[in-house]
Amino acid sequence: MSMELTSQDTIVALATSSGTNGAIAVIRLSGPDALRITNEVFKGKDLAAQASHTIHFGTVRDGAEIIDEVLVSLFKAPNSYTKEDVVEISTHNSKYIIGRLINLLIKRGARAARAGEFTLRAFLNGGLDLSQAEAVADLIASNSAASHQVAMQQMRGGFSNQLRKLREDLVHFASLIELELDFAEEDVEFANREQLRSLVTNIHQVISRLIDSFEQGNVLKNGVPVVIAGKPNVGKSTLLNALLNEERAIVSDIAGTTRDTIEDEINIQGITFRFIDTAGIRETADVIEAKGVERTREKMKQARLIIYLLDPTQDTIEAVEQQLAELRGLGIPFVTLVNKSDLLTEAERMGYANLQPVFISAKSQIGIDDLKEELLRQVNLANVHTDDVMVTNIRHVEALQKTLDALDRVRYGIDNPVTSDFLAMDIRQALHHLGEITGAVTTDDLLENIFSKFCIGK
Ligand code: GDP
Repeated sequence: MSMELTSQDTIVALATSSGTNGAIAVIRLSGPDALRITNEVFKGKDLAAQASHTIHFGTVRDGAEIIDEVLVSLFKAPNSYTKEDVVEISTHNSKYIIGRLINLLIKRGARAARAGEFTLRAFLNGGLDLSQAEAVADLIASNSAASHQVAMQQMRGGFSNQLRKLREDLVHFASLIELELDFAEEDVEFANREQLRSLVTNIHQVISRLIDSFEQGNVLKNGVPVVIAGKPNVGKSTLLNALLNEERAIVSDIAGTTRDTIEDEINIQGITFRFIDTAGIRETADVIEAKGVERTREKMKQARLIIYLLDPTQDTIEAVEQQLAELRGLGIPFVTLVNKSDLLTEAERMGYANLQPVFISAKSQIGIDDLKEELLRQVNLANVHTDDVMVTNIRHVEALQKTLDALDRVRYGIDNPVTSDFLAMDIRQALHHLGEITGAVTTDDLLENIFSKFCIGK
């Protein structure tokens, strides 16, 4: 994909999903000829004479043949998503109609849009910055209250505004220091070093906090990876099925939803928990013990949370304590569950008090709500406010880390006899990396990388 401004072109693509369920499809055009091209196939009224932000009923035709009855929405530059003239044609959702119409529009001079090209144009024309454009993709992919909220926050510009402020402060100092370079012989200081030091410290703190937010931001966006561990026959599959079946029951209550794709996730108060290696759990009986244990250990390292299940009818407390000690060694939070508690007397339960377990019966689905509460408590998201600015993108974290490194050099430069030109260089470096996040600084490779992951039509 070439990134030069190609706004002489008018692009076209299906903007809605190409699935067959919906009633309506939307075909979108963007570019200087969007109105002219649509007008040539549309009968009803002269679209060129209509105001922006209006909708018009009519037919689209290939010669005398009517292809469909449609609604056409007009958005005139610069008041559109891409900042160009945009036309959206709502048709009936038939693959045949969509194919015919897009071909017709291409014959009249439109070009098939590439992946992410509408959003790329929105970015290049200043409608969105880069982190907001990335948030559009996150928003479309969001599947829980939490992932939705962080994506929305980022798309609305919360993160961008915070970065812009930091950049402005730094730019101010960079220009003062560069002024000093012009008066090098006179040994003057325009940029007050004390002020610079406190500014850098301040920015350093904000950026460190943003970097720290990634761990939780990532969890909110992608879900918490969870492993269910325990010896064979303690009830792991039964528990997993209980959790997942309950989830399916909840989801299928929502009219019209199907859940073919997300197999092994549950949603607790808006947070997604993703069970990993569920195939492995279901197969434990078939796996040779030693190999199974090794594999589980590997999987556990990928988890952010471990559910450790024990069976009081076959595990002794001593054996369990040894296993728990091993788990502690991994340094990953875990929840201890005593399963099959339906088989325990009250006195037997007391024997487990030291482990502070949650008692459940996977088979009779007792204690599942207590387990969910404990899972939430363990991931410790209670005091995360999703309206806080949060970093959810690995690209952003890397750029922030590089900014931080440059700021460390600036700090060193202030406290040591380093000449202004080096100081200026390090500040510029910090600015450069901050700018990479919002796209104030970009390369073709970077844009290619980001937008090629979008779908066509976005
Ligand atoms: P896994 O090997 O850890 O996946 O264990 P399974 O889920 O296959 O369960 C092993 C056996 O324990 C099965 O016969 C289950 O029916 C039984 N089981 C699981 N949970 C409970 C429970 O809460 N109470 C009782 N009494 N039996 C259970």
